[in-house]
Formats: sequence, structure tokens, C-alpha cells
Amino acid sequence: MTLFFYVFGVFYVVPKFFGIFGQTVYFLVGTAIAYNIFGNLIACYKTVSSVDTLPPEMMVPQEGEEHLWHFCEVCQKTVPPRSWHCKVCRVCILKRDHHCNFVGNCVGYNNQRYFMWFSFWAAFGSGLAFYHNIKYANRNDIYFLDMLSMNVVLYYEFMKPGTYDLGLQFGVRFVLGFNLFAIAFPAFLFLTQIYTIRRNAVMHNTSDRTYDLGIYRNFSEVLGRRRFWTFLSPNIKSPLPHNGTQWTSKRIV
Ligand SMILES: [Zn+2]
Ligand SMILES: [Zn+2]
Repeated sequence: MTLFFYVFGVFYVVPKFFGIFGQTVYFLVGTAIAYNIFGNLIACYKTVSSVDTLPPEMMVPQEGEEHLWHFCEVCQKTVPPRSWHCKVCRVCILKRDHHCNFVGNCVGYNNQRYFMWFSFWAAFGSGLAFYHNIKYANRNDIYFLDMLSMNVVLYYEFMKPGTYDLGLQFGVRFVLGFNLFAIAFPAFLFLTQIYTIRRNAVMHNTSDRTYDLGIYRNFSEVLGRRRFWTFLSPNIKSPLPHNGTQWTSKRIV
């Protein structure tokens, strides 16, 4: 979808509305967005958060922390606090947020940053695509609510072929509908991420405030030392504050 909206927008729709300057700006901005969508997606897929990624000396609890670790029946070993077993990945994941089927990986301690920015850029990029797609639609006398008439176009075309220019009339409505979905779905994911990270919770228990250390530190535990600068690119190095086994909680345990 991203690739389609990028190519369709930058090389087909935008040249119909903007001069060479506008086209160049659109091309640069669009490319930066596409780069962030794909870059974060790939980084999220490639970065593993499993407990097996820990150095051997961290695979056992430090002195005095034994009571915080729990036993995983499937892995048959004790695992750090906040790590949970994933049936799909078949391993325990450090600070497991959820398993994402689109990314094809568990979102956990090491890669949540990429997931958060992926969902942001996907929603933002789709929003920008919607702006030029609706402009293009309006120019062809198709308006926002006309999306509801997709079936009517198909029906008339079936009953009386040649009534509509199917490619244009149906195609544009379809792209708009698709585009709305491409905004809503990642936007929902992004807002869910913000909601949970703000509380330092995880998706299966969004209201848990056990590890809530204040917004600033909660976000640092996901985004790393450079915090919101990671928004600019998945390639910005931003080391996380710890190794994912030692969690400061609000309660004194
Ligand atoms: Zn396990
Ligand atoms: Zn998983």
C-alpha cells in the first residue's frame, strides 16, 4: 500500500497540480516519509527482543532479584520480569507488548521504538496521500461521500456497460476508501502505543501503572537516549537505558 500511494502520489497525481518546485518538495518529503515507513518496518522485523539475545551473564537474575523472575513452562527456564512467552515466536520476549502479524515479529523491549514510529509515519504519510488523492478526485467531480457509491458504479457498469469510465469512477473511489483505511489503522495503533507507553504499560494490560516513572522516563525506556529525535530516522542510534531485565517499579518490592 505504501509503495502504491508513494508512486501514485509523487509521480502521477502531484505533477497535475504543482509546478517543478512543488513537485520537488513533494518528492523529497514523500521519499523521507516512505523511507521512515519502510525503515522502521524492516528494523522492527529484524530487531529481536527475545530473552535469548541477552548476554549469558544476564540470563540469570542478579543477586537479590531472584524473586522478581518467573518460570516459563514452555521454555523451561526462569525469565526476567515483564518478559512473556510468545506462542508464535516460540520464545520469551523481553517486555512483550504484542505479537504483530504485519511486522512478522513480536514487539518488545528492543524494537518497540521502531513499531511506534512505523505506525506514526504510516498514518501521517497516508494522511498526506489523502490530501492529494481527494484533490484529484474533486477535479474529476468525485467527492468524499461518493465513496459510498462504489457499488452503484459497479452495478450500472454491470447492467449497462459503458455508463461509467470504470477505471476513473470506480478506481478513484476505491483508492480513497483504501486510503482512509491506511490512515485509520496505523493511527489507531499509534494512539494505542502512545497510551500504553505513557503509562509504561503493555498492550495486554494497558492500565497497569506498576512501572510508571513519569512520561519522560517512560518514553526514554522505549525510545532510548535520543528520545524523540528517533522520529527522524530508524538509523539514529539511541541506546536503551538498560538491558530489559531490570525494571524500576513504582512500588517498593
Ligand atoms: Zn517462554
Ligand atoms: Zn511473537
